[in-house]
Amino acid sequence: MVGYTKECKICGCNFTTRSAKSARWEFKCMDCHAGRKRTIAENRQQKMVLNAEASLRKDIDKLEAKVSDIDMLIAAEISNHLNKIVEADMVKEMTDAVLELVATKVAEMEEKLTSFQEKIQRQIVTLSNRMSSLVKE
Ligand SMILES: [Zn+2]
Repeated sequence: MVGYTKECKICGCNFTTRSAKSARWEFKCMDCHAGRKRTIAENRQQKMVLNAEASLRKDIDKLEAKVSDIDMLIAAEISNHLNKIVEADMVKEMTDAVLELVATKVAEMEEKLTSFQEKIQRQIVTLSNRMSSLVKE
């Protein structure tokens, strides 16, 4: 089948339709048709970036909530022990115990932050792989 020559409704250039039959519904040249496709890919990319951002935001909020929980735990631990202290040398003992507790909690937080950073890195890699495969489409 031979196509007809039509004028593109988008850019006004002349183009040949794929067939005589398709001339009834084809109104865009190949370039404009590809341009429309690119816009859809761009929209999909933007949506994916927004989704990734929202999921990262959620993770950060969770982490922040955990940090404030730990702050409260430490404060409760300190006041709990201070209430029981009667001897001066016990203050030193308790201070050491609290410092040890703080050091342990800080180490735990650092570990969580490291795994969180690794998670973000993996998400960024996955996202950029998806983007480059979308651009190739
Ligand atoms: Zn066109």
